[in-house]
Amino acid sequence: MSTPLKAPRVIVCDDLHPAALEQFQAHGIEAEVCTGMDEAALIQAVPGANALVVRSATKITRPVLEAAGDLVVVGRAGVGVDNVDVAAATERGVVVMNTPTGNTTTTGELAIALLCSLARHVPQADRSTRGGNWKKKKLMGTEITGKVLGVIGLGRIGRVVAQRAMGLSMEVVAYDPYLSKAGLSKTGTEGGLEGIELLELDDLLQRSDFVSLHVPLTDETRGLLGAERLALMKDGARLINCARGGLVDEAALAIALDEGRLAGAALDVLEQEPPPEDHPLLDRENVILTPHLGASSHEAQRNVAVDVAEQIATFLEDDVARNAVNAPALPANMRRELAPYLLLAERMGSYLAQRMDQPIRKVEFTLAGEVANKDQVGALRLGFLVALLQRSMEGSVNFVNAPMLASERNMRILEDSEGSAGNYTNLIKARVSSQDGHETHVVSGTVFGNGPRFVRVDDLFVDLLPKGHLLLTRHTDQPGVLGQIGTLLGEESVNVSRVELGPHGAEREGQATAFFSLYDTPSEEAIERVRGLDAVHSARHIDLGA
Ligand code: NAD
Repeated sequence: MSTPLKAPRVIVCDDLHPAALEQFQAHGIEAEVCTGMDEAALIQAVPGANALVVRSATKITRPVLEAAGDLVVVGRAGVGVDNVDVAAATERGVVVMNTPTGNTTTTGELAIALLCSLARHVPQADRSTRGGNWKKKKLMGTEITGKVLGVIGLGRIGRVVAQRAMGLSMEVVAYDPYLSKAGLSKTGTEGGLEGIELLELDDLLQRSDFVSLHVPLTDETRGLLGAERLALMKDGARLINCARGGLVDEAALAIALDEGRLAGAALDVLEQEPPPEDHPLLDRENVILTPHLGASSHEAQRNVAVDVAEQIATFLEDDVARNAVNAPALPANMRRELAPYLLLAERMGSYLAQRMDQPIRKVEFTLAGEVANKDQVGALRLGFLVALLQRSMEGSVNFVNAPMLASERNMRILEDSEGSAGNYTNLIKARVSSQDGHETHVVSGTVFGNGPRFVRVDDLFVDLLPKGHLLLTRHTDQPGVLGQIGTLLGEESVNVSRVELGPHGAEREGQATAFFSLYDTPSEEAIERVRGLDAVHSARHIDLGA
């Protein structure tokens, strides 16, 4: 972290709104502006610099970080930090921070602008008029008053869109599995979100005249609107995406528009930007495409410039790292001692994130035996939490921001320690539950030698190496089922390395659970085929990492 600095040296490497310099001055910092530097020029310029400020043009690479011996912070005016080698920065103890809130209003307003443009064909009408056509009949529009807007992802931008839409007399429904109804009414009174009905995604798609996406791009949300979900949308509905390319299957969207099932789409973001010449949506009259303009307003550029300057100055003065996307690693000696437990905690978090169908509202994390007495055991809870959250979030979840992100998602974290670990020297137990405990899953693990092991999963005692791919099946407890599953996986070229099996407890008489450890990644078709077996009730693929 930062050392006390008498006169911190800050270099602004990209064109930034001048308000940033004024903000630095307010903290007594005279920032130097030096834009357009390539790697070689940066390597010359960075020795002695304590902070670098970038937008997206300047690349802060590993060699630049290695040359910057006094650097403590890199600030990105904006959200994405793809132009900064965050791993190299973390290794060198350099904090990387972004400014995620400065674009919120501007991006929300673009979604509303696209919604209105879609309803009244504004870009098409403009093109037609300039082209010498006066095509009034072909450009018949629709009112938005009284229409239903479905907001997918009710975070910062989704809320701006929802509020503006209600001001335009639209009815707003929303889907956000990480927001509870209680959370909505709490934010509702603060943020004017009363009157928004939270729905399941499929219900939202069936009810909405307009659907607007505001979720991050994560493993969970990639392809969120594929062919099947697009088919659920109301006839004549319109889609807006100002979030991220990759959320919508663009080929499936083109087909839905072709078939006339959807009346239009407006996309500010595409899977490939700029799109290739043969992109299926490029020459379509009922599609509006904008070049990732979400954050492009004077106000947003000013906001992110002020935010980054304020955050950097505060960090240099007080060591407070707001909006850090990385976090310095544990000291090396501690990391060595805790490493196998940290890996175990991370694998437990990853397993439970993939095991739960409903959003997690309560986490109970218990350390038992010797591990409970080690220094820095808080790191184990944080490692668990980071892995638990990572799967549903875009960008970096780290030790610094994980507790805050958990609380934003209304997760209650309870921590406990027990002197005895029963038959084990050390035990980590984690239980996660959904709202009102309708869904609960438990996993316990220990470290044998240097390797982590799961020893209990729900009510099944196991000896499971938590790595690679697992296939979890529930099936009728009858002879031959395991053989059928194994044969089918073999036909799909998926090799099984080990099977853990057990009955599922008295209350589920006649059912068994099996964990197949796999050498290969099972395809979606292979899992579907397993699910299709008569005796199999459910099959779930869990990827625990290499
Ligand atoms: P945010 O983190 O404040 O909100 C995201 C919301 O999505 C959260 O409430 C979260 O609970 C919810 N969510 C997560 N996974 C979900 C899922 N599977 N289903 C439904 N909801 C889910 O983020 P934000 O600042 O509102 O940004 C939203 C998106 O807009 C991000 O993808 C961001 O990258 C993008 N963005 C685009 C532009 C642009 O230029 N077009 C500008 C800024 C932000």
